Amino acid sequence: MIAVRGLDKWFGGIHAVREVSLDIGRNTITGLIGPNGAGKSTLFNVIAGLFAPTGGTVHLDGEDVTGLPPHTLFRRGLLRTFQLAQEFHSLPVRENLMMVPPHQPGENLFNAWFRPGAVAAHEAELRDKADEVLEFLTLSHLANERAENLSGGQKKLLELGRTMMVDAKIVFLDEVGAGVNRTLLGTIAEVIQRLQAERGYTFCVIEHDMDFIARLCDPVIVMAEGAVLAQGTSDEIMANEHVIEAYLGT
Ligand code: ADP
Ligand code: MG
Repeated sequence: MIAVRGLDKWFGGIHAVREVSLDIGRNTITGLIGPNGAGKSTLFNVIAGLFAPTGGTVHLDGEDVTGLPPHTLFRRGLLRTFQLAQEFHSLPVRENLMMVPPHQPGENLFNAWFRPGAVAAHEAELRDKADEVLEFLTLSHLANERAENLSGGQKKLLELGRTMMVDAKIVFLDEVGAGVNRTLLGTIAEVIQRLQAERGYTFCVIEHDMDFIARLCDPVIVMAEGAVLAQGTSDEIMANEHVIEAYLGT
């Protein structure tokens, strides 16, 4: 589904991503691991269009999408989860889902000013969809709760819910488990698995928790110093001496 070839990213004198080539198969959950500073987030940001690469290509479903802006990739179903924007914190959970960026930039604003009838119909539709998403996430009981009152893990579930509002095809999750307790990390893993099995999602997941990665991801790709160091099943990766060395910093 995604083919990355020779991807390179420099920040001034820092070579953050070095000639990375990798494939992400449709309907897989690919894990991306590696020590801090390995270039994982930068790789995500280049694939998702937040940074232009210094060199190399990204193909989505066989089409060259290198350097396309995030909103264009978003419309094609490729997205990186957004952290909850500050201005949405005081809004109820359901409204947070309904506020997901529209398919066309400016669409909502245009409709709100010029086509009030269309907005009402659209809003009812959005509301039904949001309620369906909340049920899938087992968050229905929190629909009217202000987003700021959710726990860290519940906010992560809400981020996943936002991808469901736009029918994402491939989702990039950066450190999905950071600051999340064990129980909710398990719930998040379940939701990711159900989105893959029941909705045909493809995921690429950066996470430090190896239990989470081992339970969820096949294959696992290891990055170190900007380059791909190894790829395999989680068992293969954890037995690989180069990987162990990279983590020990020897
Ligand atoms: P990881 O996510 O694996 O921890 P990053 O992709 O965040 O690694 O960082 C890789 C390298 O690129 C680091 O040396 C980091 O300091 C550098 N880097 C990341 N983002 C930027 C940026 N926006 N400007 C300059 N340097 C950056
Ligand atoms: Mg990172």
